[in-house]
Amino acid sequence: MKNLQLSKEGKLKHFLSIEGLSIELLTEILDTAESFAGLPNQQVKKVPLLRGKTIVNLFFENSTRTRTTFELAATRLSADVLSMNIATSATSKGESLLDTIRNLEAMHVDMFVVRHAISGAGHFIAQNTAPHISVINAGDGQHAHPTQAMLDMFTIRQHKQDFTQLKVAIIGDILHSRVARSQIQAFNILGVKEVRVIAPKTLLPSHVESLGVTVFNDIEKGLVDTDVVIMLRLQKERMSAALLPSEREYFKCFGLTEQRLKLANPDAIVMHPGPINRGVEIESNIADGAQSVILQQVSNGIAVRMAIMSLTMQSHGEQI
Ligand code: ASP
Repeated sequence: MKNLQLSKEGKLKHFLSIEGLSIELLTEILDTAESFAGLPNQQVKKVPLLRGKTIVNLFFENSTRTRTTFELAATRLSADVLSMNIATSATSKGESLLDTIRNLEAMHVDMFVVRHAISGAGHFIAQNTAPHISVINAGDGQHAHPTQAMLDMFTIRQHKQDFTQLKVAIIGDILHSRVARSQIQAFNILGVKEVRVIAPKTLLPSHVESLGVTVFNDIEKGLVDTDVVIMLRLQKERMSAALLPSEREYFKCFGLTEQRLKLANPDAIVMHPGPINRGVEIESNIADGAQSVILQQVSNGIAVRMAIMSLTMQSHGEQI
């Protein structure tokens, strides 16, 4: 099946999902991000790569980190950025998604960065938009959050030598997590030794093993010998039924505590895509502790998003 994300030459045209991408492409993204990572230490934190390009952030769902880091990434690439407040846009007056896109196209936009509650929204826009426009998925429903997964891979690469030697654990609400889905795909493409998911049965998708993971329902067993520990928030806004007794009970059974973290390797890193809920999935002193790389993930979001934006524009024959 043709991958909608790739140009005829195999270059990244849109960035919608990790699925189907090659290890070479993921590595190219990480290497390109590396070249942008030092920019904040320079006096002028900008490069002219996307000068004259117009990028529209279309966020139909709430976001703090993702939206702001996309905005900063675009600004640091010297693009003109427009962040649309959907709550006050014509969509709330009944305009269809396609009509919103058509109107923005008429304003000569070059890229859409899209977050939407419906899985596949980014694919839909990519299929229906003008050929010169790139679409980047900033999170679609429970389906994918590929830029988050790439910034996580980038952060891991800063701390760990070799993906193929790693045992990683993703802990928490896997069922509703687009982040977990994209991370699992990236880990498998990069050849990680073992990907574990640790969660109560009610927070695991059915047939989760088919994603290429080992399942644990006991956090203490699952943490043993791990190098990377990824915590996830309980996505209550996506839960249609009571899947848990209480937050207190959840913390007791699945919360990351100092005691439990000792079961992982001593140099294990602790990650979280945010927003964190202290005392629900993670003890506060771990979130702020020496093994936590949570704020590094946020900083790296800018360099990684710059890489993805510049690579997708390059596929249109831009000289970058
Ligand atoms: N920020 C991430 C997302 O948008 C994770 C979360 O919301 O828990 O999916």
